[in-house]
Amino acid sequence: MQHFPLFLDLRGRSVLVVGAGMVAERKIALLRSAGAVVSVVAEAAHPRVLERAQAGEIMLSLGRFEPCRLDGAWLVIAATGDAALNAEVARAADARRLWCNVVDDAGSSSAQVPAIVDRSPVTIAISSAGTAPVIARRLRERIEALLEPAVGALAELAQRKRPLIRVARPDLAARRRFYDWLLDGPVLDALRRGRGRQAEALLDGALASGDTRARGKVLLVGAGPGDPGLLTLRGLRALNEADVVLHDRLVGPEVLALARRDALCIAVGKTPGGDHEATQRRIHALMSSHANQGRCVVRLKGGDPMVYGRGGEELEYLRAHGIDYEVVPGITAALACGAYAGIPLTHRGHADTLTLATAHRHDGARPDDTRTSRTRVYYMGVGGLSGLCERLVREGLDPMMPCALVENGSRPGQRTIHAELGAIADAAVAHGVGSPALLIVGEVAALGQRLAWFGEVLTAQAPGSIEPRAAERVAA
Ligand code: SAH
Repeated sequence: MQHFPLFLDLRGRSVLVVGAGMVAERKIALLRSAGAVVSVVAEAAHPRVLERAQAGEIMLSLGRFEPCRLDGAWLVIAATGDAALNAEVARAADARRLWCNVVDDAGSSSAQVPAIVDRSPVTIAISSAGTAPVIARRLRERIEALLEPAVGALAELAQRKRPLIRVARPDLAARRRFYDWLLDGPVLDALRRGRGRQAEALLDGALASGDTRARGKVLLVGAGPGDPGLLTLRGLRALNEADVVLHDRLVGPEVLALARRDALCIAVGKTPGGDHEATQRRIHALMSSHANQGRCVVRLKGGDPMVYGRGGEELEYLRAHGIDYEVVPGITAALACGAYAGIPLTHRGHADTLTLATAHRHDGARPDDTRTSRTRVYYMGVGGLSGLCERLVREGLDPMMPCALVENGSRPGQRTIHAELGAIADAAVAHGVGSPALLIVGEVAALGQRLAWFGEVLTAQAPGSIEPRAAERVAA
């Protein structure tokens, strides 16, 4: 080990910072958040540092650094832009056996400030001993993304309850099991939902009753449109926590690969022409049987679970069966396809209203209104595309209205077909468009011909004549 990691209690202790520029200011802020008494010496100071001095947060001496400034300090940070001066500070600190960090200069430092993930009171520090700060920073980003923000609140609660827990669980092994339950169970869930009082009541209840069996739950998670980068951080954390993943057909392998390695992944997708009600019953049965065995079930759906995802029905079922649930939204296909085809779904002067609709309609449904200031996005339209377009024209939409059909939105094979409403169905056939695809209808659709930045763009000039245009493939 090149460096010995150590956490310092700086509350009420003096720390000297040499330098008062922006770099020094960041260190000052960090030291202050740890409760240190900060003195600063510098020839000149950044306005932010001056403000701190005026507010009495720090002691600022304007002038040259002299070794006598180190009197009384427990730690020194050299953060001037002058390498010779920084080295002089480091030497003076060494002579007094004081730890000194020279910002961005591992060679001159006797102490280093690590990359930090702060979930106070839990703090994670990462160091590469100054050899590869970029790696340390990357690792920090990863951990930051994975570590539940509520962990800090949990640690704070555990700290407060420690004496009680110690009395109620005098046996070390039992106490350890209790802490495991705290980390995995409903207390953390309650904190995550912003319900501090409920979390405390659950903890007290479990201490009194001794019932710390794992309680199963179902997380309804939106996987986004396909590009794994469009999964939310909360969705990623859910996948890391999952014992079981029940996923749709639309969820791609890249997203599934992010699930906990030993999670049981079950495909429960509805196949076109299959018995959807039977599939839905099977999904309900799987959710409840796994959750009732205390497992964390992630029900993973393409896009957003509450947009054409039968999310509402699944929540009704879970509620009726007393199973805990959470919902993690995802980026729905309409938003992703708009963004990835360069089509703004609302646009000043062209569209002020957005309708998400399905191409499958109940008989007798009311016709859509035909205002041109409306963007309409139709999900599930590939099979019945010509029927849909004919109906829209019958209901009064202009057959010349621009349309874009986005296939495989956000995925490596994305294609966007541009045509007028009267021609798009033929164009789709000519290009062999398959599922998943969605249809964007409205004046804004035409903007995608200019603003597209992803995948392949194809244009049909007039019904029947389809010309590939700007067929450029952007590396995905
Ligand atoms: N819950 C999903 C929608 C499920 S319905 C969501 O919020 O996105 C399935 C339909 O969504 C498909 O028939 C298709 O119209 C659309 N869709 C889903 N992912 C898509 C993608 N990557 N590209 C284009 N359309 C997509």
